[in-house]
Amino acid sequence: MPQIHERRVKQVQRTWRQEQGKTHANHSSNTMRSKAYPSIAQKVRSLKRVLNVDVAKRLAWVEPSVTMEELVLSTLHYGLIPEVVPEFKGITVGGAINGAALESSSHRFGQFNDTCLEYEVLIGSGDILWVSASQHPELFYGISGSYGTIGTILSVKLKLIKATPYVKISYERYSKIDKLFESLSTAHTSMPPDFLEAILYEDNNYVMIQGRMVEDPADETVWSLSAAGSEWFYGHAKRASGDEVMPILDYLFRHDRGAFWMGGFAADWRMSLSYFIHKIALMIGEWADVSTRLLPKERVPKSPGVLFRLLFGWLMNSRHLYASLHGGSENWFEDHFVIQDFYLPRETVESFVRQASEKYRIFPLWICPILSTNTSQFFAPHYREKKELLFDVGLYGLPSYAKGPEAVKDLEEMAYSLQGRKMFYCYTYLSEQIFWEYYPLQTYRNLREQYHCDRMYPEITEKILK
Ligand SMILES: Cc1cc2nc3c(=O)[nH]c(=O)nc-3n(C[C@H](O)[C@H](O)[C@H](O)COP(=O)(O)OP(=O)(O)OC[C@H]3O[C@@H](n4cnc5c(N)ncnc54)[C@H](O)[C@@H]3O)c2cc1C
Repeated sequence: MPQIHERRVKQVQRTWRQEQGKTHANHSSNTMRSKAYPSIAQKVRSLKRVLNVDVAKRLAWVEPSVTMEELVLSTLHYGLIPEVVPEFKGITVGGAINGAALESSSHRFGQFNDTCLEYEVLIGSGDILWVSASQHPELFYGISGSYGTIGTILSVKLKLIKATPYVKISYERYSKIDKLFESLSTAHTSMPPDFLEAILYEDNNYVMIQGRMVEDPADETVWSLSAAGSEWFYGHAKRASGDEVMPILDYLFRHDRGAFWMGGFAADWRMSLSYFIHKIALMIGEWADVSTRLLPKERVPKSPGVLFRLLFGWLMNSRHLYASLHGGSENWFEDHFVIQDFYLPRETVESFVRQASEKYRIFPLWICPILSTNTSQFFAPHYREKKELLFDVGLYGLPSYAKGPEAVKDLEEMAYSLQGRKMFYCYTYLSEQIFWEYYPLQTYRNLREQYHCDRMYPEITEKILK
């Protein structure tokens, strides 16, 4: 084991007992909450090294606070990438496992944690265990989506695949939802592409996006996102058709600039004014109502123009947008926005999409197919009794005709009644009683007892339920 890792792990273990129960705010979190993290997570922030890349075995051994950007840059150096790369650059390895992260290669590989082989975990007694599918499998699987309530991950061994310098993207346009889902399902079964996703825009404008890794662009146009003024991915995909080629790094983090389309709201002057008035209101404790009344009536974010992109594009990556969220504005976002991901099976996803968009008109919608798991990842949104293709429906926007919490409660009810599940990075309004009807309380409590979590980690409902 590299000595530096061993030393830091010992340090974490030593300080662990003194800091029990303390909390701190996590301002770089890619969740909608920054508060009340066990202070151990702060200690883990110092564990941010890629410890080893084994090129022959295609494995990486990494510490938990390595970000997706750092991980990809390190492995790409050897012509390899992780099987699943969550698309915000600042998402960490530990956060992706505990937060059940996915991406457009998830139709082949499942969640990020499904590509991991082993974790080094600090359990509640202060001991360290190596866990895998064969050693302590209940902990190995149970930790997925548990939001840091079953143990602290100290390092991770994960699988890599061969990468190429470019990704060839094909856009296929649809105007009917049933045809789009049919094509997504077929694309997954016959010659599955490396990457698969769809974006649903307003006015029945839907696009399926397939990506295949290629060595060179051949005759295709190379479209890069790196220039300050370049178009954001969702704006470009709204009209794109046929094929084009992107450098692989640009492709993997294509949704980072603009955080999908959340940055598009900032280009609307009424939204920006409303946000700044809310900030002033925070300081002086008044005017909140004025801020609400200024919100735009047209609720679908426009693709920002070149001037806005040139002047403010650098501020619109996911890191800066999260900083504006966590800098005291979580309640303002919660009041007005829906930021949620629901996973639904093939049989019900169309119905969910139709109902949700008729009622709240949140556009664009992100659709990401994902392979389910039947291992005991009981909190993970892709946990099912059998292996099947599920669809993540990402709703990020301003709901028409409703306040944020009202719409989220209704969408939660809709999704769970259609055999769906949600990601817990965002606001969750299920009552504790209902929550435990969907998730196995006894299995969770047994696991916590077995690994001495009670004294150290809060229960998941304390962290994620409103
Ligand atoms: C608008 C929006 C869109 C999103 N879209 C996507 C998406 O498309 N794909 C996707 O995959 N995800 C998406 N997410 C969610 C994101 O991936 C998860 O919230 C992820 O958990 C965030 O990672 P982080 O590193 O910021 O985690 P953090 O906030 O640091 O941590 C998340 C949780 O994990 C725990 N944790 C962190 N490190 C450790 C550790 N070492 N040991 C034990 N517990 C730990 C923390 O205590 C916390 O509860 C989206 C979020 C938002 C707001």
